Amino acid sequence: MPEILIRCPVTGKDVSTGVALPAEVFLVADFETYPVHCPHCGLEHPWDKGAAYLQVPPEREPSRPGPAR
Ligand SMILES: [Zn+2]
Repeated sequence: MPEILIRCPVTGKDVSTGVALPAEVFLVADFETYPVHCPHCGLEHPWDKGAAYLQVPPEREPSRPGPAR
């Protein structure tokens, strides 16, 4: 099950929110948001659904090269 991640505004790294949901549930879910303790910078980051994204399992990444992110 994919985990919901946010991006650390300090280090730019992925931070797990500790919430895992099927993608179809994530799309329609409404979240109570709460700060996540960030293991990268040690701060707490508030987040909301607009800032969150699902971790894509590596085996489901498209194999063809896409635009650089
Ligand atoms: Zn952080």
